[in-house]
Amino acid sequence: MSVRVRFAPSPTGALHIGGVRTALYNYLFAKKNHGIFILRIEDTDQARYVPGAEEYILDALRWCGIEPTEGQGYGGKLGPYRQSERKAVYREAALQLVESGKAYYAFDTEEELDRMRARLADAGVAAPKYDASVRMEMRNSLSLDPLEVTDLLRAGTPHVVRLRVDPGKQVVYRDLIREEVRFDTTELDDKVLIKADGMPTYHLANVVDDHHMDISHVIRGEEWLSSTAHHLLLYEAFEWSPPRYAHLPLIMRPDGKGKLSKRDGARFGIPVFPLSWKGDTAEESFTGFREFGFEPEAVLNFLAFLGWNPGTDQELFSLDELVEAFDLGRVHRSGARFDMDKALWFNHQYIKQRPVQEIVSKLKPLVEARGWLWDERKCLEIVPLFTERVNLVSEIPDAAGYLFSELRTMDEEAVRKHWKPELGPVISELVKILEAVEPFEAQALEQAAKAGFQSLNVKPGQILPILRLALAGGLQGPGVFQMLQILGKQGLSRIRTFVARD
Ligand code: GLU
Repeated sequence: MSVRVRFAPSPTGALHIGGVRTALYNYLFAKKNHGIFILRIEDTDQARYVPGAEEYILDALRWCGIEPTEGQGYGGKLGPYRQSERKAVYREAALQLVESGKAYYAFDTEEELDRMRARLADAGVAAPKYDASVRMEMRNSLSLDPLEVTDLLRAGTPHVVRLRVDPGKQVVYRDLIREEVRFDTTELDDKVLIKADGMPTYHLANVVDDHHMDISHVIRGEEWLSSTAHHLLLYEAFEWSPPRYAHLPLIMRPDGKGKLSKRDGARFGIPVFPLSWKGDTAEESFTGFREFGFEPEAVLNFLAFLGWNPGTDQELFSLDELVEAFDLGRVHRSGARFDMDKALWFNHQYIKQRPVQEIVSKLKPLVEARGWLWDERKCLEIVPLFTERVNLVSEIPDAAGYLFSELRTMDEEAVRKHWKPELGPVISELVKILEAVEPFEAQALEQAAKAGFQSLNVKPGQILPILRLALAGGLQGPGVFQMLQILGKQGLSRIRTFVARD
């Protein structure tokens, strides 16, 4: 059997990171099995449609590097891949079910439905629903006289199409992640398939498209698990063979308390979307992983491990290696906790491995955005000194600001601890020695300084912290002589200025 999988998001806003993980697992599964990864836009719910969301989905997949081989924006023989353009297909499918007696027209108004629910609630029914127990008391093509039904339809009376679910049966299937899953049809309602506005519901459109698009495996989030009961009943009603199903575990909040939602981004100071999203209000606007400064490869590596592991100690994977290692059978059943430190760790590992030139290119716009002069040669020297110290490229301008631009801050507490005015003349002597060093490079500078400490009769431990403060304004940072090499003679001026401070 050839593998064809789909990612089927609804364009209701920015694509949540959980959706990106679903896309990634579909992508990995498709590539691993030499299959096809399809993008389908499920936009049948007009009320929840958000302009720009479809574009966002495409941009996000492109940024991550997990692009579909077929589907919306990519073409293919089984399109259109946007559900709003497939209305006729769903209508025809629904009529087919009505004709075979597996579905029916229902003319009940909102008031009638409310009355039915209230009546059942009064009778002590915990979750009132439109099902076999009440359908014959409602106004539908099963309960009404066929002539009346024809008249109602002819008169254009608003109606929906519902699936006829027979009670007392078991729906059983084997989930690729959860093993055997069982539903009792007595618990299920007669789901609406076509709404009063003529649009299909998610359930009908999803099943019809999976069938017409020849989907072999449905890999989706756990929140859709309960829908699978109706989906399987639909396959049975159509007499189509269903795809295999795999339901992925939820992504949980960092504190483990419930499912990660878009609001948790602001609550925990973490990104929950791949790219930034500008909503109508500040509350509806979100900063993405990209804008936080994450590299897409690190985000994919992080997401791959949210719910799966390869069963070995290896944690760092390129996309190709993930394809090779991925196995749906190793996806966990229980929720996966979002761990920001782990996300940062993946990014740190990633930037450490990358060629310096690549990081330098990423840094350029960030440096320029601060109004600092861009000096590529200098940047090539700075970057290797900081990739060990930062998790994100975007942290480099702050961490190395004193090398890009002038010194702006001074750790006065450290100054009080290390600086003694009587050391001034010694340091001035040392500056003279360093000034004469040719070439002005870290190694040569260090050698000259060492000789200087001896001849001036001071301990390196007395002087080096002061030089560090003078150059960097704090005690952290790369080696003193590496900094000096980058700053050049300007570094020596900083030392002179420092010594003259009192
Ligand atoms: N449109 C659904 C969503 O937004 C698709 C669920 C599925 O994959 O069946 O996630």
